[in-house]
Amino acid sequence: MAENWEPVEVTRAEGRGPVVLVCEHASRDFPQPWGDLGLSPEAAESHAAWDIGALDVSRALAALLDSPLVSACASRLVYDLNRPLEADDAIPVQSEIYEVPGNAGLSPQERALRHRALHDPFHDRLAEVLDSRQRDALVTIHSFTPVYRGKRREVELGFLYHEDSRMAEAALEVEQAKGSYRAALNEPYAASDGVTYTLRKHGEARGLPSLMIEIRNDLIDTEARARDMAVHLMPALAAAIAAVAEDRQAAE
Ligand SMILES: [Zn+2]
Repeated sequence: MAENWEPVEVTRAEGRGPVVLVCEHASRDFPQPWGDLGLSPEAAESHAAWDIGALDVSRALAALLDSPLVSACASRLVYDLNRPLEADDAIPVQSEIYEVPGNAGLSPQERALRHRALHDPFHDRLAEVLDSRQRDALVTIHSFTPVYRGKRREVELGFLYHEDSRMAEAALEVEQAKGSYRAALNEPYAASDGVTYTLRKHGEARGLPSLMIEIRNDLIDTEARARDMAVHLMPALAAAIAAVAEDRQAAE
């Protein structure tokens, strides 16, 4: 591993905005000692390796909200930071149409090593950022491919939750009223697909409201489009934040 390589990047750590942003699938880097896992160049640049555009949207939102952003620095094919070690797809041998040769036949020790090298520092750092603040909400930013296993996906924006649906429902209401994109709750994935690990681990475990946003990646495939999407999402996010702030005030 390069001497100064870090598995996690935190920007605007001191930001005073109302949420902490997380981007677990931000990177298509394949750091040593794992390298490119024997992937074809096409696979290593594809949506299988990372969430195309998600980091650009996250950075733009962090600036708009003045919020901290915790993002990954290695491809999710090395270790998927939104999965626990016991999930088969934490270190996938096959990702949609691509085989991942470097992940085949790993011993439990090799899996545990990647978990320690990538998962632990990322989630420890996120916990530190959350611990240093009060009364936050957690928002994770993801993107998905327009065509999955040969099937076209119609949904363009998904608002996902683990158990606490307040932020997702408030965001969806604003988005549907605007009508610019086809938006839905818990699409194209839901908690039952195992995609809400970060929300559960850091949100619900500490009583923080949380929201996962999934954006179809053809809408954010340039930095300019990603920035436009961040601006577009601000009213929905503001409504999500307001929904939980009202509940909190009512409880006090
Ligand atoms: Zn993702």
